[in-house]
Parts: sequence; structure tokens; C-alpha cells
Amino acid sequence: MAEADVNINELTEYSSDEEGTTTQTNTSAAKKAEPAKKADDSYVAIHSSGFREFLLKPELVRAIADCGFEHPSEVQNECIPQAILGTDIICQARSGMGKTAVFVLAVLQQLVPVEGQTSCLVLCHTRELAYQICHEFDRFKKYLPGVKTQVFYGGVPLQDNKDALKKEVPHIVIGTPGRVHQLADEKILDISKLKYFILDECDRLLESLTMRKDVQKILRFTPHDKQVGMFSATLSEEIRPICKKFMHNPLEIYINDGSKLTLHGLKQYYVKLTEKEKNRKLVDLLDALEFNQVVIFVKSVNRAAELNKILNECQFPAITIHRGMKQEERINQYKKFKEFKSRIIVATDLFGRGIDVERVNVVINYDMSDASDAYLHRVGRAGRFGTKGLAISFIASEEDGTVLNDVQSKFVVSIPELPDEIDASTFMQS
Ligand code: ADP
Repeated sequence: MAEADVNINELTEYSSDEEGTTTQTNTSAAKKAEPAKKADDSYVAIHSSGFREFLLKPELVRAIADCGFEHPSEVQNECIPQAILGTDIICQARSGMGKTAVFVLAVLQQLVPVEGQTSCLVLCHTRELAYQICHEFDRFKKYLPGVKTQVFYGGVPLQDNKDALKKEVPHIVIGTPGRVHQLADEKILDISKLKYFILDECDRLLESLTMRKDVQKILRFTPHDKQVGMFSATLSEEIRPICKKFMHNPLEIYINDGSKLTLHGLKQYYVKLTEKEKNRKLVDLLDALEFNQVVIFVKSVNRAAELNKILNECQFPAITIHRGMKQEERINQYKKFKEFKSRIIVATDLFGRGIDVERVNVVINYDMSDASDAYLHRVGRAGRFGTKGLAISFIASEEDGTVLNDVQSKFVVSIPELPDEIDASTFMQS
């Protein structure tokens, strides 16, 4: 079992005495952000005084204003001032707090586009997330037309990537580890001049041995001197040292660490039922609940396809997204949902992490997640960036009950049974 034998010592380790081109802070830079004093403080930190304070390029300040961002979130306040100085950063903050903008702004602030040179590589674990991150770069670089981005992921013919790279070398590449490794290995993509290396949902990238191996191999094609940023909503004590092996003296920001990973603004309930009662209950809920957009999570590809069929037969215009679909179809479904052309999506955990669809205000765990962290990523789809949301979990087995209990103790929340009626104002924006 070669896969399981990979040990963390195989990871590239940097010696701290080597010089970096990036500006490092003098301290060991390990820091824990103070937990928010009040629930709302997580979104608009106490000392927040607007993005202007970060002294970003005027092109970025304009784009930020166009995006409607008024105040930086706590994670942005903690990380952006350090990140734009070139400091390596490892950051955990609950989903929806605006981690993407941290690295997107930090990279765009520092990047000096050089013709024919890729300066930034962002790795993430799914194609949809890669696409979303690219979109975020494109939003913020609106007034920096010289900066070019491209996305690379598996499922598309390699030749397409080759053609794209021949036409134009992007300054910023966003991709999944397998495909990026292949492109680097076949010398189609040159990352030898890289300056910024970001791992989004880094625990996910490094926990999976296949992905971790790809990440390690990709690293070998990059120069030693570069800024590394790692971001996730969940970073267990075990994975943190592994992440740090890829970095120089990183600044560590853990916001709402561990038990304080509360899901502010999100109403959570469970429904106890049997497997065969699930469809009826789901249909009743979809009929009764007011919602903008809803994500229904199931545990397997087959169940996603089947449930979607059932919902369509019941006249619910649902769509589905899962690994069993062709990549083009997956992106199409994702776009359809993101652009509000569909309001109900049946998904596997694939859709859980990092995906940001701002109108989602209801998440239904038709099949309970198999672990508490996965629960957090799933329900984090609703109530993004401090908005309201509702999460309902179907509990149909003893194991489901155990996960529900784990969630309650780990995140210090009490999840009551779904009442007969819920006041819509508790999960709908007024
Ligand atoms: P995370 O990566 O922490 O899960 P995202 O970066 O996906 O969170 O951000 C969640 C949502 O909040 C996105 O729609 C993003 O555009 C929005 N957002 C991020 N920062 C701000 C801000 N400072 N003000 C308003 N909205 C923001």
C-alpha cells in the first residue's frame, strides 16, 4: 500500500536560513486572532475602518467598491495588511467570511504582470471552486486589464489547455492539482518563476494522499522564494503542521477557532424519520418553506440522480451536480444555479466546500453528512457573509444521530427538532 505509506516527512521542508525575496515579518508571526466579542463582529470587525486603510492600488479600491464591499470582514482585517507585505499566511475562518478576497486582493496588489510569465498559482480541489476563484480574480482585476487569468482542471482535453497556453501565458493560474501537475510535468505550463502560491481549502488538498502527492510534485517546479498562502474553514490540529511544512514562518490566523466555529445567522434543525419517509418530508418542506435557493445534500452520486428525478416528477424544477457528470455539464449546472436560473440543486459533498452562491438560504441534509466537519462545510452554503439561513438535517439512523451530536458538541450549538412552523423572517432576508 504505497499510498498509505507516504509520510509527512517526505514533504518539502524549507530551512529558515535561506533568504526569500518576499518581505517577512520579524517575529515568528504566529498569532491567534481574538475571537469576536459580539456575534456580528465576525463580519465587521470592531476596528474596521474600510478597505482604504489597507492602502491598496486605486484600481483595486475601485473594484472593491463596485463589488459593494464596504467594510472588511474580520479575516480580511487580520490577513490583508500582512499578506500584501509578502508574509506567508495560514488562515482558518468559517466559510462565508471572505477568505477568497484575502488572497485575491493580496495577489493583485503585489503582482507585477510580466509578459509570458506565470506569477501566481492557486490550487483548489474541485473544478467548480477553481472556476469560482477565477471569477473572483476577474471581478477584482476589472481595472487591471493587463493581468490575465486562466483556469485548468481535469475532464477537459489536455490539448485545449495547450492551445490556451500557446495563445496567451496567464499571470494567474487557478487549477486542480492533477491537471496542473500534468501541465507542469509536460512543460506546457512554466511555473518556475512563481511568486505566489495559494492553496484554498488546503486541508482538503493535503489530507487526500493523491492530491497531496500532486501538490508536492507541483512544488518541485516552483522556485524556493515565493509567498505561500493556505486557507480553509477547517484546519485540524493534525493538518496544521503538515501545512506549515510548505511555508516559511507563516502568520497563523485562526478566527473562531475550534469550538467557537459558530454559524452565526443560521437556524439549524433536525427531523427524525425513517429512510422511506424522506421523500414525502422533503416535498412537504419544499412546498411549505419560503426560500431563495436551496441545496439538498445526499450521500452518493446515484442518490443525487435519483432524487433529482423524483423532484422533477413532482414538478420541482430541480437540477443536480455530482462527480458522475461530464465536466462541461457540471460547470453548466453550477453556472445555472449561481446565476439563479434554477432554485433547487441536489448535490453530493462535491458542492459543499468553498462554493459560494449568495442566494442560498436553505440547506437540507437529505442524507446526513458522515462527519461534523463535512456538516459545517455543507450548511455553510446558507447564510453566507452574515446573512440569514436555515439548515435542516434528516436523521434516519443511529450514525446520523451520532454525527448530529458531534456537531452540537464540537461547534457548541444546540440543534432542536424542527417545529411544525418556522417563522420565515428567521431565515429570509427582510
Ligand atoms: P470564504 O472563502 O471565507 O468561504 P468567500 O470568500 O466565498 O468566503 O465570501 C463569501 C461571500 O461574501 C462572497 O459572496 C463574497 O463576495 C462576499 N464578501 C467577501 N468579503 C466581503 C466584504 N468585505 N463585504 C461584503 N461582502 C463580502
